[in-house]
Amino acid sequence: MTVEAVKPENESYVFQGTINKKAPMVLGGKGIRMTVEKDGKVSEVIDAVTGAAVGALGWGDEEILPIIEEAARNHTYTFPSLIGNKPSEDLAKFYIDHSPEGVFSAALWCCSGSESNENAMKIIRQYQIERGCPEKTKIISRATSYHGFTLGALSISNCFRADMFKDILIDQEKCLKMPPCYPYRFQKKDETEAQYVQRLLDDLEKIIIDNDPKTVSCVVVETLPGSSLGTAPPPKGYLPGLRALCNKYDLIFMLDEVMCGTGRSNPNGKLNCWENFLEPKDAPDIQTVGKTLGSGYVTIAGVLVGPKIRDAYIKGSNSVFGSHTYASHGFNCAVALGVQKKIMRDGLTSNIFKMGNLMGQKLEDALLKEDNIVGDVRGIGGFWSLEFVKDKVTKELFPVELDVGHRYQQVCYDNGLNVMGMQGNADGINGDIALFAPSFVITEADVDEIVSRAVKSVNELTAQLK
Ligand code: PLP
Repeated sequence: MTVEAVKPENESYVFQGTINKKAPMVLGGKGIRMTVEKDGKVSEVIDAVTGAAVGALGWGDEEILPIIEEAARNHTYTFPSLIGNKPSEDLAKFYIDHSPEGVFSAALWCCSGSESNENAMKIIRQYQIERGCPEKTKIISRATSYHGFTLGALSISNCFRADMFKDILIDQEKCLKMPPCYPYRFQKKDETEAQYVQRLLDDLEKIIIDNDPKTVSCVVVETLPGSSLGTAPPPKGYLPGLRALCNKYDLIFMLDEVMCGTGRSNPNGKLNCWENFLEPKDAPDIQTVGKTLGSGYVTIAGVLVGPKIRDAYIKGSNSVFGSHTYASHGFNCAVALGVQKKIMRDGLTSNIFKMGNLMGQKLEDALLKEDNIVGDVRGIGGFWSLEFVKDKVTKELFPVELDVGHRYQQVCYDNGLNVMGMQGNADGINGDIALFAPSFVITEADVDEIVSRAVKSVNELTAQLK
């Protein structure tokens, strides 16, 4: 037996990230501010991205702490298909009630966004079997999408994260890819927005026809992509067009709102991001959520199931096949419900929609027309990105080796601002990106502070790269 030597001070016992270099370590926080230690230096950092767009309430909310205590006492654990629990029922009803009427009729709660997408893929598969269409197996998602790091979710993702594992993913003949929806780079100069949308829809229709519509099961997209190409809002008509093609070819329409949903970007003071782009009649048949649902206080995500799918199960076997030990965990659901009730009571989804759009506008005003490396500022509500380019006119990408997205993250950190930098170019498609997704409690003064530090950091990095 080998005995693990004591690691040097700057190495981590946790097997993630850069192995022989510790990431900054959080010591605590309040609201949108965290206290972080790095290389022995303690500093206060404004959290402008809440980890990975997770935080809705911010750090250390005093109203949530007693809810956590009570949930631990009364809902320690049951295996859900043997003995159910009230918080999971109440949270499902809450989500259904805060979505347009009739869109969702049930929910399954799980522990991560990846797991929610795995479950959604299986729920759709069982749906096709229940209604007598077992030959419908193929899933169409987008090139440059991200649906999670588990193998099923990676199979329908197509970005640099999937490449290393491609030999052990689901047969890619079953996981078809349509072009990304990315006007900044792919809408041609002589093309109107409507023409661009039509081109994308024609491409999808061709994929469906070429692959035999009778064998295609569903179309899945992120309503507002985050981790793949950075909060590019879908142009007018794109999502309704996807819905129409799903109707035409009898396919399930699935939206992944793990990162953009549950209040982060809803225009009506409610939950779903798609309400920016779709009428309730065009709503998804199934949707996944995560992140802000538990606001980081609990690790919870979910699958919202619409009546079409639920009814087919009831007419069929009346049973959902498969379960996870921690599915619909009462503790997680009770805390998430407490978080969501507070958000609604205090109008925080309206606040983040307004403050987030203000932040986006101020970033755009301060950065887009200036002589710097910011080629695009895009987003909606509480979810925004900067895309960095070497040349604003040609949109030329920076070489991968310069790692501009992560360098921007580092410069921001040194200026007391936490954002998420993402390396571009890995797919040869998008530029380096920085994501912004602050918590819903953000004030106008916080917006000004975030914008000021973000702009200072852009100017410093631009000078470094000249
Ligand atoms: N789906 C989307 C759109 C995401 O952005 C992510 C994570 O960033 C996931 C799924 C995976 O969620 P998780 O990391 O909680 O497994």
